Amino acid sequence: MMHTLSTSELLHVWERGVNQSSIQRALLLLMAAVPHLPLDKLAQLSIGQRDACLLTLREWTFGSQLACLVHCPCCGDRLELSLNVSDIRLLSEITLDVETFSLTVGDYDVCYRLPNSLDVASLTHPTDLTTASDQLLHRCLLTAHHQGEVVPIEQIPAAIVDTVVTHMAETDSQADIQLALSCPVCQHHWQSVFDIVSFFWSEINTWAYRQLREVHVLASAYGWREADILAMTPWRRQLYLNMIGQ
Ligand SMILES: [Zn+2]
Repeated sequence: MMHTLSTSELLHVWERGVNQSSIQRALLLLMAAVPHLPLDKLAQLSIGQRDACLLTLREWTFGSQLACLVHCPCCGDRLELSLNVSDIRLLSEITLDVETFSLTVGDYDVCYRLPNSLDVASLTHPTDLTTASDQLLHRCLLTAHHQGEVVPIEQIPAAIVDTVVTHMAETDSQADIQLALSCPVCQHHWQSVFDIVSFFWSEINTWAYRQLREVHVLASAYGWREADILAMTPWRRQLYLNMIGQ
């Protein structure tokens, strides 16, 4: 259902996303890559499904190797690691219908759906994890019954809520990719979150500046139009850049 983005399409996404949030950037990328689906459908993909799509798009755009740079939280040493998209892409099939999941914990029967872009965008305090998790839960818990009787979400015991939250996280494990890292210098072990949206966007940003610089150099030298320069294969463009000593 997705297609690869051309140079000009990706530049267009970058330009529109420069001043946007991470949620918006992810949606801009998906809108460009899956143009036949309306925005509300894309926004309803669970965060894990969204991230699986973005991993595939990243693979098509810049290849399957992900070069990450992390700093050891203990000694500060720089760690370079190379991941393959296939190591961290857990989902291969994307479902476009909003799925609901049922779970029985003790005497409680709970029905929920997975958090999506609209839920995350609605958070009033996205950096406050307790509040954010409460707000997500309120949006995503659909019904709760205790021994057959309807129970308001607020009245579900904390222990039951914790189990539901754990279950949700396991169901959408693609949404929270944790890398187990260890420092070769000080032997410290820790977990680091891999966020495909910020990783991919940072690469797109670097790539876009290079595109614009090359357009500038070639347009200055030959007077060609931006669209014509962007439409060239990278190989042919590089040959011209070599000829003018860039
Ligand atoms: Zn270290």
